[in-house]
Amino acid sequence: ASLLNAIEMAPRDPILGITEAYNADKNPKKSNLGVGVYYDDNGKLPLLECVRKAEAQLMEKTAPRGYLPIDGLAAYDKAVQDLVFGADSAVVKEKRAITAQAIGGTGALKLGADFLKRFAPDAQVWISDPSWENHRALFESAGFVVNNYPYYDATTKGVNFAGMLDTLKNMPAGSIVLLHACCHNPTGADLTDAQWTQVIEVVTSRGLIPFLDMAYQGFGDGIESDGKVVGLFANAGGPVFVSNSFSKSFSLYGERVGALSIVATSAEEAARVLSQLKRVIRTNYSNPPIHGGQVVATVLATPELRALWEEELAGMRVRIREMRQAFVEKLKAKAPNHHFDFVITQRGMFSYSGLTKEQVTRLREEYSIYAVDTGRICVAALNSGNIDYVVDAVAQVL
Ligand code: PMP
Repeated sequence: ASLLNAIEMAPRDPILGITEAYNADKNPKKSNLGVGVYYDDNGKLPLLECVRKAEAQLMEKTAPRGYLPIDGLAAYDKAVQDLVFGADSAVVKEKRAITAQAIGGTGALKLGADFLKRFAPDAQVWISDPSWENHRALFESAGFVVNNYPYYDATTKGVNFAGMLDTLKNMPAGSIVLLHACCHNPTGADLTDAQWTQVIEVVTSRGLIPFLDMAYQGFGDGIESDGKVVGLFANAGGPVFVSNSFSKSFSLYGERVGALSIVATSAEEAARVLSQLKRVIRTNYSNPPIHGGQVVATVLATPELRALWEEELAGMRVRIREMRQAFVEKLKAKAPNHHFDFVITQRGMFSYSGLTKEQVTRLREEYSIYAVDTGRICVAALNSGNIDYVVDAVAQVL
């Protein structure tokens, strides 16, 4: 057999498979709650006004397209670092952090994983159970063994914090721990401030390497409060890796804008880290594309666009929370014996709804409502037009 002839078909991406089935469905009432994007109340992907305005400004001074530096647009890296750590933070002032533009949050994770494989080749990686399904694949493809730490507790519909902490306490020093900074995907269950304090204590005292993934800053309680945990880790002393993404917060999915930041203990150490990170980038894709980074940098650095962005992001956050509230209240009226109050406490775009695989199947087959088999629904795909239909259907399958 020839080389290619012997290759087997790879398994389909489970979430993209849901969208394919949804697209083929002819029911006019169909709803896709399986997606991982924010839709507005009309069920449409928004183009933010701050983005439109920044693009209009950029169009007026169209420039030739040279290569960006390996670590991206300097103005972008600076603006992102200020956003992620706080412009007045000690880390930024002491120049202890480096930030490199990346191809979305996924690209940032991959850079971090490749970097860590070079300098901590024998460490193992720990991700939450469950986690965004690409976390495992990304770190495994970088050559790591990936383990789970307990996270979601299906009985309480919250975090199994005792189990999580216990596992952290028993990991070998130098283990890499991937944590969701806010708006946990897929569960929507976040740690409390007091729990974060305990996690930071264990991570620091045991010499673990924290890798914070922040793909939903601004979707939980607000830009600052969602980012707070990053600042707490940054001040705890050890190295910290932070991947962040503007896919959701700027509704710029296809522009692939994200960044990797690494917190070091001194400016001099940070400079060495950046020099090595650049080698990782160089051998991956050489340097990032210009447009998305320029848009985000323009918005973040222009006071009136920045204010507009914060307003638009707040609009997305508030709408999601209204949908959580409406879902719970309407369901309470239709199915008074079932309790969904936990959906209100959950944060971000997703909810582990507690629906079983069988219930998800019935929703799909009988009502053309598409959710993930795990029961994950995207609350940002609910809107005033589909919520009653969805709630009625959920009440029927309970
Ligand atoms: N991390 C998490 C937890 C995510 O949910 C996502 C996107 N769904 C990403 C990273 C990747 O973000 P991006 O689309 O910007 O690559």
